[in-house]
Amino acid sequence: MPLAKPLVLGNWKMNGLRAEGLALTANLIERTPPGERAGTLAICPPATLLEPIGALLAGRVMLLGGQDCAAASHGAYTGDISAPMLADAGCRLVIVGHSERRHGHGESDKVVQAKAAAGHAAGLIVVLCVGETEAERSAGATIDVLDRQLEGSVPPGASAENLVIAYEPVWAIGTGRTASIEDIAAAHGHLRRRVGALVKGGDQALLLYGGSVKADNAGAIMAVPDVDGVLVGGASLDADQFDAIYSAGQGAA
Ligand code: PEP
Repeated sequence: MPLAKPLVLGNWKMNGLRAEGLALTANLIERTPPGERAGTLAICPPATLLEPIGALLAGRVMLLGGQDCAAASHGAYTGDISAPMLADAGCRLVIVGHSERRHGHGESDKVVQAKAAAGHAAGLIVVLCVGETEAERSAGATIDVLDRQLEGSVPPGASAENLVIAYEPVWAIGTGRTASIEDIAAAHGHLRRRVGALVKGGDQALLLYGGSVKADNAGAIMAVPDVDGVLVGGASLDADQFDAIYSAGQGAA
């Protein structure tokens, strides 16, 4: 079974020293008693905090994820973290293909696909990000970009149980600009059909929207058909905002 929706996933990026990361996690745990709200809440802290936060989250409803993983399982890859290491630290999920990796670190679809396959091999649910740049959007190429990224980076063996797709327009990430409800609906409707055709049982795979999601726009975004949750960057660092986003999704997605 895929994770319960709405899936609200926080990507802390390279933010959070130990004391503040643990305090934020403890704050979120207090607000999410088991069974009280529907869906799935998950956080992806920086790698240095996975182990202590994993210990705090053990046996709790909130899930832990990594922000990226290597394609290899171990070896001479200085600075990288492998999918088995993430699983060992208590992660259930891993993000791959985030635009800060695709565009900031030059990762191709092939690299993203290898990372996704490594995540699956380690038993992790892979949250695979796709999305167009501003220039691609202006050129009317959004759907072509989504198709190319999906076909190039979804690994063989993906299923609705181990794959989540996050639509993240690059120009909306960290900018305060969100895609319009119409654009989100069009992109997600297309992704639903494409993922359904590409992946076994893919019509059940969760589809997230990401890009400047805040408490005040989360409800409307999660009410869009085929939006099963959100991937949240900046606002996931604020317990009030993140909790309000989760609440906004109740009954919406
Ligand atoms: C992200 O990092 O995936 C993201 C969507 O960031 P933000 O919410 O800050 O735009």
